[in-house]
Parts: sequence; structure tokens; C-alpha cells
Amino acid sequence: MKIFCIGKNYADHAAEMKSEVPTTPLVFMKPSTALLKDKQPFYHPSFSNEIHHEIELVLKFGKNGKSIQPQFVLGYIESYTLGLDFTARDLQQSCKEKGYPWEIAKSFDHSAVIGDWMPFENQKFMNSSFYLNLNGSQKQAGSPKDLIFGLEKLIEYISSIFTIQKGDLLFTGTPSGVGPVKIGDKLEGYLDDIKVLHCDIK
Ligand code: MG
Repeated sequence: MKIFCIGKNYADHAAEMKSEVPTTPLVFMKPSTALLKDKQPFYHPSFSNEIHHEIELVLKFGKNGKSIQPQFVLGYIESYTLGLDFTARDLQQSCKEKGYPWEIAKSFDHSAVIGDWMPFENQKFMNSSFYLNLNGSQKQAGSPKDLIFGLEKLIEYISSIFTIQKGDLLFTGTPSGVGPVKIGDKLEGYLDDIKVLHCDIK
């Protein structure tokens, strides 16, 4: 199982990172060992002093595909939920400065938190909205309508390079408002006002 992730897919987040909006999707991956599900707690790793929350819409693929044409993309999506793309921002900054890959900052154990799955239905998905609460106060909010690269473009692009396999996940990028978490924090993700994600930082 692979976890595809997209960087800088909301203009407001690219702006807060002082980054340009990319002209093609910015893709990276996490290994299956990055997955954290079933509302398990996240244990803050000692190798970073700045783990940031990034709330994201996450898709699960229901079948294998390669070089998928845009008009067929939606048929490959089985379900969706919210996820957290935990990011060691201090390590990522250091990698960026050196021009190094990001894996140590993005792909560590339990850096890909996922919530409860909902069956994918495109109209419902496109009209959805989501937000993240940190200790009860809202930190991030977004909607699929704000994605720079929508599902058709993302999946056409990814599948032109990588074979998509049933069960693979796609983290679609985070809106603005990312910030640090600390031990004792409580993160809750709401999709259409339904709490689908819960993660305690320990
Ligand atoms: Mg992200």
C-alpha cells in the first residue's frame, strides 16, 4: 500500500509557506508504516521540536490503474475521509535549504493519520467542507472547491508516473493555518460537521 501526498495544493497555504503555487502537482509519498488509524494517539517523536498539523482530504482507491484518463478518474475512488499529514517542519526547512529530499520530515512512523471512511460520491464530496480543531478551537478549514489541482488532474498526473493499486491513499494537500502540536494536545477533524478524526498527542 502506498500513500501519495500532494504539497501546496491550496493557494492560501502556499502563501503562508512563502511558496509559489506549483504549475504541476507536487507529489511525495509516505510508506505504509506511516499510517495511524482507529483514533490511536500520536507519540511526539524526539527527533523534531516542531511537528505541524496539516488537515487534508484523503481518498482511497478501489481498484488498480495506470495512465488513467480524466473522464475515468472518479470511478477509481472508493471512499474518502480526513487525514493529518504530520510534518517535522524544522527538519523539512533544513532539507529544503540543502536541496535534500523530504522523507525524514514527512514520512516518519505515524505521520499519516486517517479518520473514518465515507463512501465516495462526487457531488457530495465536492460540496463538502472540513475543519480542524486543536484543543477545541478551529485552526484550519477548507473545501475541495479550493484545491488548485482537482481530483481529475491529480489522479491523471499521478497515474501517468506510478501504478495506482487498490487500497492506495491520496492526501490531497492542506489549507492554511498549519501550526505546531505539543504533548497533551487534542486534534479533531470535522467533515460536514461530523467528527471523523480524533488524535491525541502523547
Ligand atoms: Mg500536507
